[in-house]
Amino acid sequence: MISESDLLAKVPTGLFIGGEWRSTEKTIDVTDPATGAVLVSIADASADDATAALDAAVAVQDEWAATAPRTRSNILRKAFDLMQERRDEFALLMTLEMGKPLAEAQGEVTYGGEFLRWFSEEAVRITGRYGVNPEGTGRTIVSQHPVGPCYLITPWNFPLAMATRKIAPALAAGCTVIVKPASLTPLTTLYFVKLLEEAGLPAGVVNVLTTSSSSAVTEPLLTDSRLRKLSFTGSTPVGQKLMQQAATNVLRTSMELGGNAPFVVFDDADLDAAVDGAMAAKFRNIGQACTAANRFIVQESVADEFARRVTERVQGFRIGRGTEEGVTIGPLIDGRAVKKAGELVDDAVSKGATLLTGGSAVDGEGSFFEPTVITDVKTGSQILREEIFGPVLAIVPFSDEADAIRLANDTEYGLVSYVFTKDLARGQRMIDKLETGMMGLNVGVISNASAPFGGVKQSGIGREGGFEGIHEYLSTKYTMTPVA
Ligand code: NAP
Repeated sequence: MISESDLLAKVPTGLFIGGEWRSTEKTIDVTDPATGAVLVSIADASADDATAALDAAVAVQDEWAATAPRTRSNILRKAFDLMQERRDEFALLMTLEMGKPLAEAQGEVTYGGEFLRWFSEEAVRITGRYGVNPEGTGRTIVSQHPVGPCYLITPWNFPLAMATRKIAPALAAGCTVIVKPASLTPLTTLYFVKLLEEAGLPAGVVNVLTTSSSSAVTEPLLTDSRLRKLSFTGSTPVGQKLMQQAATNVLRTSMELGGNAPFVVFDDADLDAAVDGAMAAKFRNIGQACTAANRFIVQESVADEFARRVTERVQGFRIGRGTEEGVTIGPLIDGRAVKKAGELVDDAVSKGATLLTGGSAVDGEGSFFEPTVITDVKTGSQILREEIFGPVLAIVPFSDEADAIRLANDTEYGLVSYVFTKDLARGQRMIDKLETGMMGLNVGVISNASAPFGGVKQSGIGREGGFEGIHEYLSTKYTMTPVA
C-alpha cells in the first residue's frame, strides 16, 4: 500500500485548462477532517480562469463531437481499467480528504468506476428514429446530438462517484466539460483527471477549476452564451440559486439535490433484513449521503424491538480515522456538521424524543459525532424536516398504512424512499403512493450505475446513470423530409 505522503505527492495541485496544469498565486488548503491537519494546498481559480476554461472547452467541442463513438468509448474503458489498477490509491485519497472509512472508500471506487464502464458501453449505442408521418407524405428522422460545452459542479460527500457520474456520460455523448469539485474535497477529482489524460483524452475536453469563491467563478460561466449545460449535485438552496442564474441563457440543467428519505418498516417485515438495511441506509458515509435514511417510520407493534436491535448494532460501531483498521464511523466533514447534528438531536429530545445511545460530539481532534439513536420523535421536530447529514437514526412510530404514507410524503424532498414489507401487494401500493424518484423495496442501498438516479419535488430534475444518463447530455433534433 502506498504511503499517504507518496500518494499526496502524486496528486496534481493546479487548475487543468486546455490540457495544461496551471498554478495560481492564491491557494486553498485541503484538510483531513479526522485530524484537522493540512494535506496539501491547491490552486484557487478566479473568474478569469473560468473564462479561460470555457475558451478551452469551446475550442475543441466540434472536434470532440466528431470523434468516433468507438474512440470515445475506448478512452472511457481505458480510464476504467486504470482506475481498477489504482483502486487503493483512489480509496486512500478519498479517506484522507473526506474521512470515510477505507472499506467504504473502496466501495466508492467500485461504484464510481462503474460509470466509466457503463458509459463506455453507452457511447456506441446513441440511436435515433426513422418514421413515416401519419399522412404518408413525409419521412421523419429523429437524431441525437451533443448538447455542447457543459459545466459540472460536484459536492464533497462522494468525491469520485459524483464526478464520474457526470463526466463519463458527458464525454460519451461528445460534450466537452468544465468540472468544479467542492473545495473541501478536490483532490480525488484532480487525480481522476490526471488518469483521464493518461487514458488518452485530448487536451481541452475536460477542464478543472478548484476555487474558494464558487459563486464568483460560476456566474460568468452561466451567463456566457457559449456554455450549453449545467449539471449540479449539491444542496437544494444552492441548486435553486443556480437555476435562477441558468435561466438567463435558458441553459439545459440537471439538478441532483438534497433528500429527506423515509425508511418505512411494516410489522410484517423481515426485521433482520430491515435492521441490516437500516445500518446501510443510515450509516454509510457516516450518514452524509443524499440517499441517507433520514426518518425511520416504524409500525408501532415492532418499533420497540426495531429500536432495541439498531441500538445494539450502533453500540458496536468503532469511531476513528478512516485509515485505521476496523473503523466503521469516521469524522463528519467539518465542525459545522458536528454542531448541526448536535442541535437536531437536542431539539428532538427537548420536544419529547427518547435518546437511546450517543447524542454528543466527541472531544479531541477532528470533527467526530457519536453514532446516535433516538426514538418516539414528535411531529414538529426539526430532525424530521432537515437533512441530518450525520450518524443519527431517528425513529417515528406509525399506526397503519395510510399513516405511513402520509408521514413518508410529508416533506418537500423526494429523492429516495425505503420500504420493508413481506406483503407484495403492499409493496406495490407503496411504489404507487410514495412521492419519490427512487425506492429500495426490502433493501437499504439502491445506487447502481445501470439505474436512473434522481429525484422528484425539490430533490431535483433529471437522471444520472442508466440508459437515461447519457440523454442529459444529448439534444434531440427532428428532421422532416418529403417522400422522394
Ligand atoms: P453545496 O453546499 O450545495 O455544494 C455543492 C457544490 O456547489 C460544491 O462544489 C460547492 O462548492 C458549490 N457551490 C456552493 N455554493 C455555490 C454557488 N453559490 N455557486 C456555485 N457553486 C456553489 O452541497 P454540499 O454540502 O457540498 O453537499 C451536500 C448536499 O449535496 C446535500 O444536500 C446532499 O443531499 C446533496 N447531494 C445530492 C446528491 C444527489 O444525487 N441528489 C448526491 C450527493 C449530495 P464549494 O464547496 O467549493 O463552495
